[in-house]
Amino acid sequence: MADDSIAVVDLDRCQPDRCNYECANFCPPNRTGEECIVTLEERHGDPDLYEGGPDQISISEELCLGETCGICVEKCPFDAIEIINLPSELNEDPVHRYGENAFSLYGLPVPESGTVTGLLGPNGIGKSTAVHALADEMVPNLGRYDEAPTWETVLDRYRGTALQNYLERLMNDEVRVARKPQYVDRIPDQFDGKTRELLAGTDERGVVDDLVDRLSIRPVMGQPIDTLSGGELQRVALAATLARDADFYFLDEITPYLDIGQRVTAARLVRELADEEDRSMLVVEHDLAVLDLLADRLHVAYGEPGAYGVITDPKSVRNGINEYLRGYLDNENMRIRPDEITFEEHAPRESVTGTPLIDYPDLTKSYGEGEFSLSVEGGTIYQSEVLGVVGPNGIGKSTLAKLFAGSLEPDEGDMDFRLDIAYKPQYVEVDQPMRVDTFLSSITDDFGTSFWNTEIAKPLQLERIMEQQLTDLSGGERQRVAIAACLSKDADLYVLDEPSAHLDVEQRVQATTAIRRYAENHDATAMVIDHDIYMIDLLADRLMVFDGEPAKRGHASTPQDMRSGMNDFLADLDITFRRDERTGRPRINKPDSQLDRKQKRQGEYYYA
Ligand code: ADP
Ligand code: ADP
Ligand code: SF4
Repeated sequence: MADDSIAVVDLDRCQPDRCNYECANFCPPNRTGEECIVTLEERHGDPDLYEGGPDQISISEELCLGETCGICVEKCPFDAIEIINLPSELNEDPVHRYGENAFSLYGLPVPESGTVTGLLGPNGIGKSTAVHALADEMVPNLGRYDEAPTWETVLDRYRGTALQNYLERLMNDEVRVARKPQYVDRIPDQFDGKTRELLAGTDERGVVDDLVDRLSIRPVMGQPIDTLSGGELQRVALAATLARDADFYFLDEITPYLDIGQRVTAARLVRELADEEDRSMLVVEHDLAVLDLLADRLHVAYGEPGAYGVITDPKSVRNGINEYLRGYLDNENMRIRPDEITFEEHAPRESVTGTPLIDYPDLTKSYGEGEFSLSVEGGTIYQSEVLGVVGPNGIGKSTLAKLFAGSLEPDEGDMDFRLDIAYKPQYVEVDQPMRVDTFLSSITDDFGTSFWNTEIAKPLQLERIMEQQLTDLSGGERQRVAIAACLSKDADLYVLDEPSAHLDVEQRVQATTAIRRYAENHDATAMVIDHDIYMIDLLADRLMVFDGEPAKRGHASTPQDMRSGMNDFLADLDITFRRDERTGRPRINKPDSQLDRKQKRQGEYYYA
């Protein structure tokens, strides 16, 4: 018996009619006659006592020998089993366990009035589970999943801790909760009506009018919700949540589909509610520059996604992010990742030379009379380079991609080429009922080759979701499939619009590596539009900067080196970055601070 180990069975993957119970046949305790791995029906008899089918397996954590054995993990053809030795530092019971051989959560974030608390960690680590508990949508069972949990027992456990006061108020129904869901894409399935109607129902603080202006959603007030773009939905959802009169606001990712200016506005609104109204804000966020700007303190979440998650005590935001990037948590004495995530201190790639992919002249394109118009400064794009593209939404980025593809004709400027473009849209919609593997193998003959597995499937973590239906995927999973689909096509130019949306920090880094490596190894050229400045920093060789007035006129700069591109872009936004001394990661300067003023004087907005 291994006290500190847990067995987790993914019931969506366990398919006993297709495997002959290899796990149980080879399990050493089973072979000596013990009932370590048996069927759920054999273990419990009564089907009301378990989730899953009667023939699926149950593993006894009492009898299991632990991770060092792990034979069943190897034997299961569907990767349904995980046996994990919990870190010995973790000498406490879980806060919640979803069931036998199911996910367990350790630790809870502590909401605090007048404070923006950040929560940083991978997807699938229990962040939403923690919030379900704090929002009184579920009473945590303290790991005793076969008993009916009560708030009294939870309170007993947390008496004398920072959570006691909050839990007492929660138990007495004194905490009003407002929450913004992670996947704003699903709002149109739940609400049928116009933006104005949705917001009117939420205006408990009488502030909707002000929020509508500050988030620039006035133009879509009369539009049906199901016609809004991802960025518009995100801002409407934010306004709807912040307009509520709540004690505890929970915001699950505020940045997807927003451009940098909108991200900074969203961050300011969240801060104001904490600072001026003394509310308690909890924000899950993977855009580290925004998290850094937004939060007063930070809980880091670590563990094994899908198996167990631990939420640490709060840390300072700077230390929390640094420790997370370093892969080692100081107070917890815990390595959470083998490698460090590093940023290069100075503009690394000064210039690119090589074989030009295209030389293009100055171009203009307008839609209709007095509608949107775009002017493009001519330039050269090289083979094997990754060109970062930055600028607000609605400024003509997709229009330029269509000009390169020849699906739109410019009004002025001769294009004597036509590129095959593989395009990943910003907003990935999936309505095909098809398995991931079927979908990807229909795109490329390379599917399943060792090269494809190494370059695409592995860094994008596709192995575990190959057999799932596209329609069942989470936002982050769908994003990874869409990036893989784009890179698997045969094309001259790969255009990826916001590949970071809904990916956690590690997935962003891995997706970045996949895109860069693909460009280098295939003489392929990638244009990556993204609003996460860390992702652009890690990814791009050069930058193309768009500016202008969204939906009216846009201007695209010629591709330029990173330093001048960042200066161009950030000067327009009036934001400067400094470097964290310890990790070299970029941090947004406080407006009008000494450094901010000095860097602006020197014209060095990013690589100062
Ligand atoms: P995060 O918010 O960090 O992405 P979640 O809290 O949503 O993570 O989920 C953590 C884990 O808990 C996931 O692996 C998920 O499969 C599992 N889980 C979530 N809800 C349930 C449930 N009702 N029953 C069993 N497992 C669940
Ligand atoms: P971005 O990719 O930067 O978000 P787009 O190139 O998609 O911007 O769009 C720029 C502007 O042009 C937007 O205001 C958009 O509504 C408008 N636009 C795009 N396509 C058309 C079209 N076919 N007809 C009229 N206006 C369009
Ligand atoms: Fe049996 Fe545990 Fe070994 Fe799996 S890891 S085969 S359940 S002893």
